[in-house]
Amino acid sequence: MTTMPHSLPLDAGTRCPRCAAVTDLLEDPTYQATKPSVGDVVVCIRCAGLLAVTSTGGLRELRDHEFRALSRAQLLQLARMQERIASGAFRPATG
Ligand SMILES: [Zn+2]
Repeated sequence: MTTMPHSLPLDAGTRCPRCAAVTDLLEDPTYQATKPSVGDVVVCIRCAGLLAVTSTGGLRELRDHEFRALSRAQLLQLARMQERIASGAFRPATG
């Protein structure tokens, strides 16, 4: 098992609906090296918001019933990802 952050590509120019940052990298709670599928729960690497992948390859905020449907293991994984984002693991290099 690797402890390195795992990220996924999204369509270029995809914007986070929470912070409006253009992002093409997202944390994957399943740690599977695939493109995100419709409805997958992902975390914005800028604002750490919980998002879902839409059928058009974009992002939307996670809905209440979707959040409540997450398992305890998924919630723990998402919380770990948010901690890594908050710690600056995904901040771009300056310069
Ligand atoms: Zn965001």
